[in-house]
Amino acid sequence: MRIVLVGPPGAGKGTQAQFISSHLSVPKISTGDIFRANVSGNTPLGRKAKEFMDRGDLVPDEVTIAMVRDRLAEDDAREGFLLDGFPRNVPQAETLKKILAEMDLRLDLVLELVVDDDEVVRRLSGRRTCRKCGRIWHVAFDPPSKEGVCDVCGGELFQRDDDREETIRHRLEVYQEQTAPLASFYADEGILVGLDATGPVEEVTERALAALRPFTE
Ligand SMILES: [Zn+2]
Repeated sequence: MRIVLVGPPGAGKGTQAQFISSHLSVPKISTGDIFRANVSGNTPLGRKAKEFMDRGDLVPDEVTIAMVRDRLAEDDAREGFLLDGFPRNVPQAETLKKILAEMDLRLDLVLELVVDDDEVVRRLSGRRTCRKCGRIWHVAFDPPSKEGVCDVCGGELFQRDDDREETIRHRLEVYQEQTAPLASFYADEGILVGLDATGPVEEVTERALAALRPFTE
């Protein structure tokens, strides 16, 4: 089964991606992992990507796409895969369609995790990071026993800039701008399924299973 998983920051995409890929026994493929593998393996594409990253520039689409193409051609992806973080926009989605068509394949399903902005803000803005050991706490869902102090190492907790409300709202806006067109692209293809990602992780997982069932039975 070939799946793309999309969802805003704070939707629990990483957790669901892990769960779905092990449930279906297909590799979870994220652009971050592909980048790291190419860079640490010192492949020609990895060297090219590194030039851009070292300069602080974005890696151009054609390099990313070439890496994705190589990754999808690997043996473990033959029976299926779960793509996480790619495609990010409609041009990438069109390219992915072309790559798969060349391999005589197509996507089965695009799962979109849907969670409202206020819920994302609640989840992310409550996060506090330990300055010393990096452990992440949450003021409501996973609080340390003493406010502002890490239970593990006694370090001071702080709120990362990424976890500030205005930063989160900005990221959500950027996400909506890119993803709304992506979602309608896949809706037109007839393969988009929205998944309510509010509530406890286990409930979201249950809904994900229900969405996958027509394909696995
Ligand atoms: Zn700590």
